[in-house]
Amino acid sequence: KSFDLDALTASLEGIEIITEPSQVAKLSQDYHTFSPVLVPKLEGKVGDIVVRPANEAEVLKVAATCVKHRVPVTVRGAGTGNYGQCVPLHGGVILDMTRMHEIRWVKPGIARVEAGVKLAALDKKAREIGWEMRMTPSTYRTATMGGFIAGGSGGIGSIQYGFLADRGNLLALQIVTMEDEPRVIELRGDDVQKVKHAWGINGIITEIEIPLGPAYPWAEVIVTFPEFMAAARFGQALGDADGMIKKEISIFASPIPDYFAAFREYIPDETHAALLILAEPSLELLPGLVEQYGGKITYQKTATDAGKGTHLGEFTWNHTTLHARSEDTSITYLQSTFPADKNLQMVEHMYHHFGDEVMMHLEFTRVNGTVVPVGLQLVRYTSEERLNEIIHYHEEQGVFIANPHTYIIEDSGRKVIDPEQLKFKEMVDPYGLMNPGKSKVLEFKI
Ligand code: FAD
Repeated sequence: KSFDLDALTASLEGIEIITEPSQVAKLSQDYHTFSPVLVPKLEGKVGDIVVRPANEAEVLKVAATCVKHRVPVTVRGAGTGNYGQCVPLHGGVILDMTRMHEIRWVKPGIARVEAGVKLAALDKKAREIGWEMRMTPSTYRTATMGGFIAGGSGGIGSIQYGFLADRGNLLALQIVTMEDEPRVIELRGDDVQKVKHAWGINGIITEIEIPLGPAYPWAEVIVTFPEFMAAARFGQALGDADGMIKKEISIFASPIPDYFAAFREYIPDETHAALLILAEPSLELLPGLVEQYGGKITYQKTATDAGKGTHLGEFTWNHTTLHARSEDTSITYLQSTFPADKNLQMVEHMYHHFGDEVMMHLEFTRVNGTVVPVGLQLVRYTSEERLNEIIHYHEEQGVFIANPHTYIIEDSGRKVIDPEQLKFKEMVDPYGLMNPGKSKVLEFKI
């Protein structure tokens, strides 16, 4: 180790720390376990100590101490990220932000929270005045706001509002720098891009100001189809129906629904399914559209009942992969964006081309004003080589792949690191201590 752990611990006096090795190891993990490629690469990577600040003053003290001792810092929310973003490659401090969970304020259409606030907690608070989060990952019950901004992209709600990266979906961030004398900086407007989705390499996010959407009573519906492409085209048509307010349209090719134990009785064998979250006032228009595509509504819960028991949203996005893997750990996944095409020809091509090896899971989303299917296809994994072949085939055909089987920022969805983010990093983390090793262009300097 290049630093003195005892001296570091002594300087952190008064701040909550965890040193018990099994707990430190646990808090050095995330959900990269969905990737058979990442697991061996990240095996045995653990931090030296977990630090749990309770407020901004403590974050400033931790930052100053880590800079002084040249200790790497890996910021952590709930650790539900899928790319090993939270796994420290060079040990050091795991900075657990979950004690900073104060909702500063909620006003019509906007809220300000501390970074450790859980998404579900903000959603609940906002609903008291008729508002809610615009979009949440399917991990909303555990994930933190800081982790979502720094490591996530979108999810339930993205069919209406697009993704976090879209202009207007994030208003302000407050960060603590890792300079010799750490500072608190507030970034507003376009400046938030300097830190958004930067995997905790660009400052410690302490507060977030985020816009909200109007809260509807959301009903949950399952529709089944004898033909997969009819299900997919129904998804596109519902997405395109601007007058119908929806939060979630996910489409699953058979046999994926077999992994949804809670819904098995509503989805007969060998049928394809749509899982929908729709505003109650839009429900009346649904049966007509379902009929046009030869589907059948097999399950419907009112907004009041949807709040109890099984949450349909927790079968969508990467929860689909979670459920599949709980029955078959050889399954992994892809993240892809299909070209905008109302006929879904590329979806149809891939569906037939790969058959059962790449099982089709589509999430309809809004991308630059157009309804586009994003794929989180389930892959029956055989080897890394074959997985790369599958990825390349998609890319050659014009399907964008955000590779979830890498812990390098540039190799994932980003492709290149944003030059603005790099410039900003030089200022806020001059010693390269934040989550070192996650970018190709940044050398770990210690
Ligand atoms: P963490 O995993 O703790 O952190 C993520 C990244 O952010 C790390 O690089 C970390 O260093 C950094 N970070 C955390 N807090 C801070 C902070 N305060 N300051 C600076 N950097 C910080 N993601 C989606 O976008 N959409 C989905 O629908 C979705 N579905 C998922 C389903 C499952 C079953 C799983 C396991 C994951 C899913 N994810 C999804 C990924 C992940 O759950 C979300 O992105 C979530 O928002 C991450 O929040 P977290 O608090 O767990 O972040």
